[in-house]
Amino acid sequence: MTGLAQARVLVIGCGGLAASATRALVEAGLRALTLVDDDRVDLSNLHRQTLFRTEDLGRSKVEAAAEALRALPRPHAAPVQVETRTTRFLPDNAETLLAGHDLVIDGTDNLASKFLIADAARLARIPAVHGGVVRWTGWALASAASQGPCMRCVFEDLPAGRVETCAGAGVGGAPQAASASSANADTRKAARGARGRRRGMRMEQGSSTRRRPPQPCGGFGSVPSR
Ligand SMILES: [Zn+2]
Repeated sequence: MTGLAQARVLVIGCGGLAASATRALVEAGLRALTLVDDDRVDLSNLHRQTLFRTEDLGRSKVEAAAEALRALPRPHAAPVQVETRTTRFLPDNAETLLAGHDLVIDGTDNLASKFLIADAARLARIPAVHGGVVRWTGWALASAASQGPCMRCVFEDLPAGRVETCAGAGVGGAPQAASASSANADTRKAARGARGRRRGMRMEQGSSTRRRPPQPCGGFGSVPSR
């Protein structure tokens, strides 16, 4: 656990996947994390976004999540350092938000944000762990700082036509738990190899997006986010 005890992790999107993954990482001894989200806690979030309670309705998600994470038991580690950024992850602030972090966890709920995070992380040479769930399908993918495939190598680009989102199609509890568990495991491996020893890897339980076999990435994909 030496990697986690030294790591500073950027978590983008404070939904269900982030809730499960960050809870496990903080309890395991993660040193510090920064939470990024501009949303507020809604009644429809409560059943699967387990850091929030009924009393948190209407509160900023990052503030409510930070409070919950700071209160988690850490018998073998110093109190976790949690910072909050009430904003979306956008091309204009991507570099600033990533600065100073050893790893990024992508818990966003839309593919445009995921491709942006993948491109920005690869450009900044920071390992990224992505996770997503729509209906009964969940997936997770981890990419190293600079070597091995990134998300764009695997999925290429936004699929043409309409794509189901978790907001429209709903999120199943079981695939979310599996996706979060895999993202959590990937994060621990990436933290151990945060100095470049790690290669790209992925776990998947089906996906509706186009994909191709992992291949070497020359830095970032052929069509970086605009
Ligand atoms: Zn790539």
